Amino acid sequence: MSAELMDFAEAMELFDPVLGLEVHVELNTATKMFCGCANQFGSEPNSNTCPVCLGLPGSLPVVNGKAIESAIRIGLALGCTIAESCRFARKNYFYPDMTKDFQTSQYDEPIAAEGLVELEVDGEVFAIEIERAHMEEDAGKLVHVGGASGRIGDAEYSLVDYNRAGTPLIEIVTKPITGTGAKAAAVGRAYVSYLRDLMRALGVSDVRMEQGSLRCDANISLMPKGTTTFGLRTETKNVNSLRSIENALTYEIRRQAAVLAAGGKVTQETRHWHEEGYTTPGRSKEEAEDYRYFPEPDLVPVAPNHAWVEELRGTLPEPPAVKGKRLQQAWGFAAQEFADIVNSGSLDLIEATVTAGASPAAARKWWLTELARRANETGVELAELPISPAQVAAVQALVDAGTVNDKLARQVIDGVLAGEGEPAEVVVARNLAVVSDDSALTEAVDRAIAAYPDVAAKIREGKVQAAGALIGAVMKDLRGQADAARVRELIVDRLS
Ligand SMILES: [Zn+2]
Repeated sequence: MSAELMDFAEAMELFDPVLGLEVHVELNTATKMFCGCANQFGSEPNSNTCPVCLGLPGSLPVVNGKAIESAIRIGLALGCTIAESCRFARKNYFYPDMTKDFQTSQYDEPIAAEGLVELEVDGEVFAIEIERAHMEEDAGKLVHVGGASGRIGDAEYSLVDYNRAGTPLIEIVTKPITGTGAKAAAVGRAYVSYLRDLMRALGVSDVRMEQGSLRCDANISLMPKGTTTFGLRTETKNVNSLRSIENALTYEIRRQAAVLAAGGKVTQETRHWHEEGYTTPGRSKEEAEDYRYFPEPDLVPVAPNHAWVEELRGTLPEPPAVKGKRLQQAWGFAAQEFADIVNSGSLDLIEATVTAGASPAAARKWWLTELARRANETGVELAELPISPAQVAAVQALVDAGTVNDKLARQVIDGVLAGEGEPAEVVVARNLAVVSDDSALTEAVDRAIAAYPDVAAKIREGKVQAAGALIGAVMKDLRGQADAARVRELIVDRLS
C-alpha cells in the first residue's frame, strides 16, 4: 500500500515543509453542547439522546454555559483575544452521523482568535501562531460492519450511535507553520503534546487520544527550497497518538517530495493514516463554500462580558512549560528523566505523591515502573488505578522505615490495588513486615550456615563475597521478609 517515498534527508535538501494543525478537543462538561443529555463516553448506544441532539423538527438548542466558560479559558491560555460577541453557524453537509444535516459550529466569528504558543524542540524555540479556537458540536459515530477495512466502502451494513452527537468541541487551528525544516514532524508532535498538557492543566478535557477526546488533523505541504509560495496540501485525519502524528507527517513529507520530484502534482485531499505506517487517499478536500455556512438562527450571539472574561483569566493554571521547568529544577531530574514523567502523563500524580511526603526519586520510580506496568497490563490510565498518590507515598514511607523492603512493597501495592485497604493495613493482613527481630534473624542465619557448610567455610577464610549464597538462603527461609543488609551483617558477625 505504501506509495513511492523519497529519502527524508534528500527531501529536506529540496523542500521546506509547511505545517498546519487542527486539533479537536472534546470538553468534559456534564452535559452536551446544546441539550441536557449526558456527555459520557462508553454508554449504551443511543442512550444519551433527545429531540435536540437527534435534530427532531421543532426542537430548539440552548448553549451550555460551562462549555462557553471552557472555550474562553482555552482561548485565554492560548494567548488569544476573546471576541466581545460571536455567533454560531450552520455547517451544512449530508451524512448520517448528524441527523440535522448540519453541524452547529462557528465560522466567521470564532470565540477566540490570534493566539501564540511557544514550543521548545531539541533546544530550539518555535513560535506557533494560533489562527482561531472555535466552538462546535461533535457528530455521531458510525460503525461499519462486515468489511475487511472497517470503512464504509466494503461494509455489509453500518450502525450509528448518536451518543456523541452534540458533544461540545473546541477546534484549535494554527496558522501555516514555516521555518521548521527537518524538525517539522517533531514540532507537530510537540505542539499536540503541549495542547494535551495544557487542556489537562485547565481541567477542561480528558484528552485521551485513543478514545478520541483529543483528535488531530495534520496538514502539510512542501515548497521548493528558496521559494515562498505554498504548495497544495494534504490533510491526514484523526491521527490518534503523538507518535503517529510524527510518523504521519514524516510519511507525507517523503511521499509528496517523491511526487513533486517526479514532476507530478500533489492532490489536495484528505488522507487516512494507517498504523502500519502509511496514508491512503480519502475524499477530495471540500472548500468552505461547499458547506454553505450561514448564521444559526436558533441561537443568540454569545457575548461574554469583560468582567467575566477577566475573572476567568484569573483561574488559568501555571502554564505547563513553566511548571515543568520549575518542578524539574526543584526535583533535580535530568531533562530526559523529567521528559519521561511528562510523556507518561504522570506529572500531577508524582507532584501529589511528593506533596504527600515521598521523595521525587521514589515517587517517579513507583509511578513510572511498577504502577505504569500495571496500568499497561490492565489497559487503564495511571490516574485510573485504584491507588492514590497519598497511598503511594505511604508505601514509600513503609520502605523508608524499614517495615518492608522494595520487593514486599510491591505486594503491598498489590493489596491496595485489590481493595484490601491502606498500605499499613495490607502489611498486617498479609503479614508482610520484614523480620526485624535479630534473634529470629540469627536463627535463620544459623539454619543457612548449617545447610551450606562449604560456603560458610569460605567466608570464615575471609571470602566475604561468598555471603550472597547464604543471604539468598535466609531470604528464602523468611519468604523475603528480611532486610538483606542486616542479614549480611549477622552472617559476617557469626562467621568471623
Ligand atoms: Zn440531547
